[in-house]
Amino acid sequence: MIPALMPNYNRADVAFERGEGAWLFTADGRRFLDFGAGIATSSLGHGHPVLTSAIAEQAARVIHVSNLYRVPQAETLAARFVENSFADSVFFCNSGAEANEGMVKMIRKAQAEAGHPERWRIICFDGAFHGRTLAMISATGNANYLKGYGPPVDGFDHVPFNNLNALRDAIGPETAGIIVEPIQGEGGIRSANEGFLQGLRAACDEFGLLLGLDEVQTGMGRTGKLFAHQWTTMTPDVMSLAKGIGGGFPMGAVLTTEAVAKNMRPGTHGTTFGGSPLACTAGNAVLDVMLQPDFLPDVERRAAMLRTQLEALARDFPSVIQDVRGHGFLLGLKLSVPNTDMQAACLGAGLLTVAAGDNVLRLAPPLIVSVSDCEAAVGMLRRAAAHFAESKVAAQ
Ligand SMILES: *Cc1c(COP(=O)(O)O)cnc(C)c1O
Repeated sequence: MIPALMPNYNRADVAFERGEGAWLFTADGRRFLDFGAGIATSSLGHGHPVLTSAIAEQAARVIHVSNLYRVPQAETLAARFVENSFADSVFFCNSGAEANEGMVKMIRKAQAEAGHPERWRIICFDGAFHGRTLAMISATGNANYLKGYGPPVDGFDHVPFNNLNALRDAIGPETAGIIVEPIQGEGGIRSANEGFLQGLRAACDEFGLLLGLDEVQTGMGRTGKLFAHQWTTMTPDVMSLAKGIGGGFPMGAVLTTEAVAKNMRPGTHGTTFGGSPLACTAGNAVLDVMLQPDFLPDVERRAAMLRTQLEALARDFPSVIQDVRGHGFLLGLKLSVPNTDMQAACLGAGLLTVAAGDNVLRLAPPLIVSVSDCEAAVGMLRRAAAHFAESKVAAQ
């Protein structure tokens, strides 16, 4: 019989009752070190007092009022994003896919309002992930995600990642803009090469295109800057956020320049739940923590220590781990054994991880993870890797 809960996920047979920091606990008293953070989402870990008390207090006051009225929490949060980014204006929504839909609509709208309604196509990259709505599976372009859902939504062209020549060749009279992840997350923790984002910016400026960054996974402190592109000197025209923005509370956002935002007059776009008092309270609480002057430098410092230890692990198990990828606390181990087997071995050792494309095991702990938790995680990874190294020896 079909389960009441739709079987569209491959769930591990474990359920968590409560969490504390980077740890999750089952009802029967087992504990797991959470290096998945709900897919790079529980940015402040579990039970963070600043976040949980803010949510509880706001929930008791008012949860939702709609966008028929002013929402002071949203005005404050938007102003804080404007102050800390390239952006002049912010739209709030509820998920990464919804933020990316908004980003694509805003790019097309800006072209149309600038007298170029014929420019509506978006260039995307092989290996991208932009979400699961009908349009975003087309933007993603992965055949597995498109299969069975009818003709792909038109308007998305794909070129190889990190190849500026291919990108320039793909630009045509109908091209409106480009959307790109600074580090492809689901695609296998594949980073934009040095100069690639700047090259995209230059191409957009040259051809009158708009540049959209999908920072749904890389944003909100994940790489040690508030946004990953802040490691470079380029800025986008539009940027999508979600995952870590509410510390686990569902939320998304589209940040844009004034030139893009000025076209989004009343009635052009909207969403019922977006930017509610409760969601924006969560977002403000997350920023209260992340904008403390020491927070992001400390993320960078702890992440660098973790990376050094992972590189040592990779040297100790060259038959299992090929290399360490990523930036900050968005790291990937490129494996020689199936990543889902390694993920299962890690679960057995008490460590939660996330598989990614390109046979990569993704490590995305909460940004509050301690040095000793990182050491514990590497110990668990070592045990899991040893299992494969031994079984390989045994098989010879
Ligand atoms: C997770 C993710 C999305 C989709 O977000 P949802 O909240 O699942 O819709 C889009 N883009 C990137 C880069 C992501 O990592």
